[in-house]
Amino acid sequence: MPLMEPYRIKVVEPIPILTRAEREAAMARAGYNPFNLRADEITIDLLSDSGTNALSSAQQAAGMLGDETYAGARSFFRFRKVVEDLTGYPHIMPVHQGRAAERILFGAVLKPGDLSISNTHFDTTRANVQLSGGTAVDLPCAEAGNLDSRDPFKGNIDLAALEAALAGPDPVGQVIMTVTNNGGGGQPVSMANLAAATELCRAHGVPCFLDAARFAENAWLVIQREEGWSDKTPHEVARAAFDLADGAVASLKKDAIAHMGAFLAIRDEALAKQCELVLTATEGFRTYGGLAGRDLEMLATGMEEVVDPDYLRSREDATRYLGELINTVGVSIVEPAGIHALYLNAGRLLPHLPPHRFPGHALATELYLAGGIRCAELGSLYLGEEDAEGNLVKAAPYELVRLAIPRRVYTQSHLEYVAEILGEIAKDPTSVPGYRVVESPPLLRHFNCRVEPVRD
Ligand SMILES: *Cc1c(COP(=O)(O)O)cnc(C)c1O
Repeated sequence: MPLMEPYRIKVVEPIPILTRAEREAAMARAGYNPFNLRADEITIDLLSDSGTNALSSAQQAAGMLGDETYAGARSFFRFRKVVEDLTGYPHIMPVHQGRAAERILFGAVLKPGDLSISNTHFDTTRANVQLSGGTAVDLPCAEAGNLDSRDPFKGNIDLAALEAALAGPDPVGQVIMTVTNNGGGGQPVSMANLAAATELCRAHGVPCFLDAARFAENAWLVIQREEGWSDKTPHEVARAAFDLADGAVASLKKDAIAHMGAFLAIRDEALAKQCELVLTATEGFRTYGGLAGRDLEMLATGMEEVVDPDYLRSREDATRYLGELINTVGVSIVEPAGIHALYLNAGRLLPHLPPHRFPGHALATELYLAGGIRCAELGSLYLGEEDAEGNLVKAAPYELVRLAIPRRVYTQSHLEYVAEILGEIAKDPTSVPGYRVVESPPLLRHFNCRVEPVRD
C-alpha cells in the first residue's frame, strides 16, 4: 500500500513561517540554543515526540467522560483495566509522568551501592538510579556501536556482558530493559533478547523491569523483523514482552498518544504496597496519581488506539520514508531507520568541524536558520566532558542530531519539507559554522547553555 496517513484532519493549527532574518534574530536571542526558542518561532518542531502528539476525536470525547471524583473515580478503573489487559500485572499505579514512576520504583528496589543494568538507561532513568544511590551501567549489544549496520535489533542488551555482571562481585539491584532503546538510536529489542535477559535475571534472583515508553512501536518492529512473530497482533507482542518481566515503568507521553501521564505496574504485591505509600505521599492517591480523570480516560483510549496495525504501519512507513529522502540528499542516518526518530550523522556531514566546535549542534542550528526546523544534538555538547575552564576534554562517541517525530502531527509533505531543507544544507556543508560555549551552567548543559558561532 502506498504511504498514507490512516486518519483525516478535523482540527488544524496554523504553523508559523518566518523569514530567514526573523529566524536569525530569534536564534541570536536564544543564545543559539534551540531549547530557548519560543513555539511561535518554530515551523516544524522535531525536538521531542514526548507529549507532543495529536489527540483523536475519540480521545477528546473520552476526556469529556472523565470522572473527577477524588478517590475511586470511574476513569481510574477504566485506565487500570486497559493497562491490566496490556501488561497482565496486578498492581497498577497512575503517575504524572515516567520519571515519577522511575523515582518511586527505584527508591523501593535499589539499595545504595547497587548496580542498575540496562541496554541503555534513558537520561531521567539514569538520574533516578543515581538519586536512589545506585550506579547505572549500560550494556548495549556490539552492533549498536556501528551506526551504519542494518542489524534489525540494535536495541538489544549484550547478553554475555549481562551474565558477567550478574555473576558479581558488585550487587545488581535491577535490570531495566528500555523498549525501544531511546538512548541507543531508538532501535528495537527482540523478543529473543528480552527472553534471554529475563531468564538470566531470574537465575540470579534479580528483578527485571521494562522501561516501556514505546511498547507498541517495539512490538510493531518485532512483528516486522523477528522470525516467529509476524502473525501476532501488536497487543499480543506487547503483552508477551510484559509477561517476561517483573514490572514496568511507562511514560504515556509517547505511546498513549497523549500529552501527560505514565504508569508504574508491578507483579509483586509487597513491592507494590511499598510503592503505593510513596505514590500517595508524592503524586496523589492511588486512583489518580497526579492525573485528572479526563487524562486517565484519554490515556486509556490512546493505549487502545496505538496498537492499531494501520496506525503503526503508517508511522513506521513515514519514518522510513523520511530516512530515505535524507539519504537521497546525501546525509547519513543511524541505520536502520527506527520508528519514533531519525538520528542524523552530523560528524560525517560536517568533517570540517572538530568535536569542540560541536558539529551536531551546528547542524541542528542550521536546520532552524534555513527552514525553521527545531531539533537537538546528541553529540559532544550534550555528552562530551569538559575541564574546569570549559574546554572539551572528551568528545561524545558520535556527533548526532535527533529528529523526533510527534505522533499524528505532521503529514508526508511536512517530512518532504524537512528533507528538502536538509538537502540545501548538504549542498554546501563547509559554509556551516562551528560553535563555542559562552555560558555553561553546572547541570544539564545542553538545556541551558548559550553558545555563539565561530569560524576558525
Ligand atoms: C520519555 C522517557 C522517559 C521519561 O518519561 P517522562 O514522562 O518524560 O518523565 C523514560 N524512559 C524513556 C525511554 C523515555 O522515552
